[in-house]
Parts: sequence; structure tokens; C-alpha cells
Amino acid sequence: MRYASVVLDIPTRQLDGAFSYAVPPELEAAAVTGATVLVSFSHRAAVGYVVAMSDQPPADVPANKIQPIEQVLAPPAFDDIAAGVAFWMAREYACALPDAIRPFLAPGQKVRVTRASDDAPWELVNERAGAVDARWASLTPAANDYVPAKTASRQRAVIDALREGPQRVSELSATIPGAASAVTALAKRGVVQIESRRQIRGTDVTTLSSAAAPRPDTLTAGQEAALAAIEEARRAGRGDVVLVDGVTGSGKTEVYLAAIEHALADGRGALVLVPEISLTAQTVGRFRSRFGDDVAVLHSRLSTGERFDQWDLVRQGRARVVVGARSALFAPLANCGLIIIDEEHEGSYKQDKSPRYHAREVAAHLAAARGAALVLGSATPSLESLGRCRAGGHAGVRWVRVEMPERPGRASLPEVSVVDMAEQFRGGGRSVFSAQLADALRQTVERGEKAVLLLNRRGFASFLMCRECGCVPQCPHCSTALTYHERGHLLACHTCGRTWPVRAFPDPSTRCPNCGSRYLAAYGVGTQRVEDELALLLPEDVEIVRMDADTTRAKGAHQRLLEQFDAAERAVLVGTQMIAKGLDFPEVTLVGVINADTMLKLPDFRAAERTYDLLEQVAGRAGRGERPGQVIVQTYWATHPAMRAVASHDRQVFLAAELAEREEACYPPFSRLANVVAWGRVEGDVRAVTEELAAAVRERVGALPGWEVLGPADCVRGRVKDQVRRHVMVKAPVDAELGVLLGGIAASLPRRRGINMAVDIDAYDLM
Ligand code: ADP
Ligand code: ZN
Ligand code: ZN
Repeated sequence: MRYASVVLDIPTRQLDGAFSYAVPPELEAAAVTGATVLVSFSHRAAVGYVVAMSDQPPADVPANKIQPIEQVLAPPAFDDIAAGVAFWMAREYACALPDAIRPFLAPGQKVRVTRASDDAPWELVNERAGAVDARWASLTPAANDYVPAKTASRQRAVIDALREGPQRVSELSATIPGAASAVTALAKRGVVQIESRRQIRGTDVTTLSSAAAPRPDTLTAGQEAALAAIEEARRAGRGDVVLVDGVTGSGKTEVYLAAIEHALADGRGALVLVPEISLTAQTVGRFRSRFGDDVAVLHSRLSTGERFDQWDLVRQGRARVVVGARSALFAPLANCGLIIIDEEHEGSYKQDKSPRYHAREVAAHLAAARGAALVLGSATPSLESLGRCRAGGHAGVRWVRVEMPERPGRASLPEVSVVDMAEQFRGGGRSVFSAQLADALRQTVERGEKAVLLLNRRGFASFLMCRECGCVPQCPHCSTALTYHERGHLLACHTCGRTWPVRAFPDPSTRCPNCGSRYLAAYGVGTQRVEDELALLLPEDVEIVRMDADTTRAKGAHQRLLEQFDAAERAVLVGTQMIAKGLDFPEVTLVGVINADTMLKLPDFRAAERTYDLLEQVAGRAGRGERPGQVIVQTYWATHPAMRAVASHDRQVFLAAELAEREEACYPPFSRLANVVAWGRVEGDVRAVTEELAAAVRERVGALPGWEVLGPADCVRGRVKDQVRRHVMVKAPVDAELGVLLGGIAASLPRRRGINMAVDIDAYDLM
């Protein structure tokens, strides 16, 4: 008899751990690790996932109490190693086991049990978006002798089209009206044969010229060194990490491609994670042009059916290179020898709903479990990764950093200048463009080149800022920038929870507390305004392409806009953060940043790091071709280390200042930080639960060195959809088991109806 450990997926009950079931002989082939099964649990039907198999009956359950698995609902989606990673995630991120297992399941294959009323029978609900077949038409040998009737023009068109090779009937119909009936008629005559083939959705092609990845003749010295380090890590086979610290345009993607080739040659597969936002046709195209059909692509803009097909290609072993966003990490690539995370510093690698994992941490764990190498690439590595490399390792594996300080060929780093917008304002400039940026834009298009303009949207309008000196009012108690709340006309501190009516701060006339100016306002411009001012500034034939949340909502819009920018003679691309990464257009010689500092004042310890990363990234879009690039950064805070570091191409300027501040305040990478958020409609209950939580954590760790409990306080987004949100932050020593501790405390608190609580370990979103 075989026995299975099953994790039950019963949403209303948090069941910790797995339960043992017997495998009836007829299910032995199907009930294996990774399978979804139907079992009964305390007199109800339940869906569960097999996480381990054994030949021994469980020791802790009497033999006559063991129930059988009733049905296998879905084939295996993960193996034993993946199951181990899910258990680790549940502990590390204080989440329920089924939450940690769900990312490993096949997309769109959810099965659940439900019943109409308390005494109705349990029913299975199958929300499957499974495989589909497409009808393909091809010519038979009989077609050579077949002459269609004179009037049968459609038949002739179909035969002509099929002479090029077999085609999908749906494709024929799209180009030849009435093709479907002509195909049927031809099939009856034996001229055309129709067969069903499994359709693979989500394998679109791109027309972007820049998406091809011709193999360079030689690698740069930096690329060779990076590749050698990756090969060494792969050979070590224990999850060693290589941080490829390469300036923008230094050829990191080429390093990934070469490393993947080596892994494939050894018969192993590779996972490549790219931030969702830069997972464009261009990036995907570079991998497809090198590895063809060996590539599966997974991201959230695909339909469920498309995602299922791509996922299934991986499970069948037909695609050995997986390129995708964060969740591609969970693809069923059994023989994975290499995991690559591009732009590893990106905040989007942290998932903001349960399981609140960080892809970098899960990848490190997975790489060790699979004996693979982990490659982290970035022009602006996270302080966490830099710290681990400096320490030589982390959690028992080696972390090494390889620098790629130069761009290949003649491309050089762009010249960066910082423009003080307060000075512009005092000089009478009221445009969103400084005189320098306006001039540079005109000259760029005159030369027939292209420009990219970044408009920083994060942190907008939630602050009052003095337009004359750039000052933002701060909390006198916490030196956190105060956020402005239109409702109630209040300034609020989200660290200590104090608020002031705007009129009372700092004096009744709402003047700048720094310089006394009256130009203290919630200040913000939108991409639309930038587009309008550009149209006035530049000749009419200059193409202005706007890329923001509004213009990219439709499927494929990203790609269409980039193609439009690519095809134009001279053009300006205006966009939000989404344009900062991944774009590689050699004709772009000017990058302008409209407002570099809007993020700096956010009450978040990573605000400066994010600003620096963004500026460095967007600056890297300039001068990637033969012609030199120029970058103009507009700011009210020209002396900030982030601005000075970008201007001098010297990361150390930023790092030295930032690390000193982090260490002083004991923020990561010098500590771990968790954010526990509670929300609900009844403010009193939300207050009570956060106070209980803070008290419980203080009681447990308050006196221990390296621990600190902050709050409770209102969240920056203090009210979302009529729900009140408050939070407690906890700092802990770097080696603390923060998830286990906070998960345990949160579970021990008395439950309150209508109150939700989220424990976010190593939180990225503190708002
Ligand atoms: P990154 O990912 O570091 O930003 P890319 O991989 O996009 O850089 O490379 C930047 C450009 O340099 C690309 O156009 C790429 O084709 C080219 N390139 C990369 N490696 C080489 C090389 N060894 N020789 C010549 N050109 C290269
Ligand atoms: Zn001022
Ligand atoms: Zn305060």
C-alpha cells in the first residue's frame, strides 16, 4: 500500500500541515507528488495537493482511521523539490500552505468543492482552461491533378494558399472570405486533408527590428568574466549566486544567452525572470531568436489559455527555457540548471498578495535545492545583494559579484547633467521643461534623432511642495515627509500617526516653512500635459508617442507604441516608469527626466534607492548606438546623493550616503523589516487589533537586541474602498526567523469579524 501526504485546500479553515491518505491500487499511477486529489476530511469533501509519497503507513494515525484518496483531479504540477520550496515559503512568509502551493499549479486549472446549502451534497467545480485543438488543412497528393471549376475562385485561393504549407483553417478564413466551406468541399473530394493539432496559444511573433539577437563575434572582457563565474557556479551545483553588476547596455542579456546555451548543452533547462513591465516583445524576441521553440513565455498579460499552453510546454519538456515574470519561477522545469533574474533590484519581484514572497529569495532557495546556479543581473543591484556579495555568501552558499563597467564597441555612457528646477522657477520658468531640456529636445529632433522623456508618477500629488525651494513639510517628531490628504485638508505623518490641518501648519497662511513662499501646492503634471507642451515646442512632423497606464491598457498596446516609436523618422517617447527599462533603441540620444525627486519624499526607507535606480536605468536608454547620448535630470534636490551619483556615474557617492543612513536607522540590509497591515470597515476594531498585535510582539521581543516595533499608525493609504488601514512595522536582526514568529503571533490573536490582517515579511510596500 502507498500513502500520500496531502495539503488540504479549504479556504475557510487554516489547517497547518499535511494529512495522510491511503492510495487505492487503481489510483497508484496517478496519485503522485504534485497531483490534485479529492479526499474527505471531517465529513466533508475537500480538494488537496499531494506533497509527498511513502510506502510506510503514517506513525501517528491508527491504520483503521486512514481514509483513501477518492479521485485524482489533475495530473502532477510539481515535484518533491518544489513541494519542499512551498513548505519553506509557508514558514518564511507566514502564509497558509495551500497559498504557498498554488503558484506551482497549472494556470487556469483550479478545481474546488462547494455546496449550495449546509445540507446539500458537495460538488466539484472545475474552472479549467485546458488544451484546445485547432483544425489544420493541408493538400493531399490528389491536389496535383485537381482543377477547380472556373467559378470556384475560393477553392482556387485556398489551394494556392496551402501550396505554401499546411495552415490553420481559422487563419485561412481570416484572409480568404468563405474559406471554411471551400475547405470542407475540397476535403470531400480528397484534395485537402483536415487534422486536429494541439494548438499552442501565446506564441506570438514580433515585427520589431531590434528584437533579433545576432550573436556578437566576441564577448567583452566583462562578459567573459561573468560567464566564467556563472559556469563555475553551475559546476559547484549547490545554488551559488553570481551578481552580474553591469552598467546599462553592457551586454548582460548576451551573458544570459550564452550561459543558457551552456546549460542546454549540458542537458539542463533555464528559468529567466524579467520584470513584468519590461517583458516586452523586444525582450522575448531576443530569447526566441536565439532558442526558437525551446522558449516558453509566461506573464500576466497572456490569457489563461495561453498561459496554460506555455506552462504545459514546459511540463512536457518541449520548452527548456522559460522566460517570464515573477511567477515563472514556479514553472514545472524539472531539470533546471540555471535561474536568471534580470533587474534583480526591481520591487516588482516582491509579490504583494499571499504568498508575499520575494522572487530573489525563493530563487536562491530553489537553486540550492536543484543544484542550479542563480544569476542576478542589474545596473543598480539591490543593497541586499551587494551586502551578501560583500560578505562572500549567505545561507551557506557563495555570492560573488562580477562587474561589467563598459559598453561593448564604441557605445559609451551618456553625459548626465542635473538641472535645479527651483532656480528655473525663480528665473521665471513656468514650463515643465527647463531651458536646457527644451534646447536639447529641439536639437535632438533637428539632428533626426530620438528622445525619451520620463515622467515620474509615483508619489505624486500626495505632498505639498514649495515650487520655489522644493521644500516638503516634515513631521517635527519623525522627520518623515508629511502627506497631504485632500479629504479634510490635512497633513499626516504615517510613522507616528499625528495630523495637522493644513491651515495650522506651519502658519495660518500656508507658506513654505523653509522660504516663506506662497507657492506651496500639491504639485503634479501628467503625461498629457507634457505631450501638449511638446507639441508646442517641436515641429509638427515629430512623432510624439505617449506611454502610460491609459495608453497601454489594451492588449498589445505596449508593443504597438514601441513599434510606432521604432518606425518614426524622429520621435519623442513620453512615459511613466514603464519606459525606464529594457528599451534598446540605438537612435535615442537624449533622455530627459521631468521630475526626478517626486519619490524621494515618500515615507519609505527605499525611496532614495528607488530614485537612484530609476534615474540610472532611464539614463541608460541614451546613447546605446554609435552616437553619444545625453541625459538631463530636472530636480528640486540637486544636492541629493542620488542625483550626484547619477551625474558622476559613481554609484559609491550614493551608496556611501545611503548605507550610512540605513545603518544608523537600522533598516535593511542591516535588519529585516516586516510590515503587518490590518484593514476593515470598523475603525475601532482595526485600531484594537493593531494595538493587540504591537503589544504581543513587544512582549515577545521588545527587550531583545536588534528588535524594534514601530507603531501602530495609519497607513499612507489609510482608507481604501471604505476600509480603514493601519499597520505595525517590526525590525529584526538579519538572521531572525521573522515569518515564523509573526505568523505565530498573528494566528494567536483573537479573531474579529470583518478584520483582515496581512503579514508582509521583508516588505517592499510600506504604504
Ligand atoms: P544590458 O542587458 O546590459 O542592458 P544588452 O544585452 O541589451 O545590455 O546589450 C546592449 C547592446 O550591446 C545590444 O544591442 C547588444 O546586441 C550589444 N552587445 C552585447 N554584447 C556585445 C558584444 N560582445 N559585442 C558587440 N555588441 C554587443
Ligand atoms: Zn520654499
Ligand atoms: Zn511623525
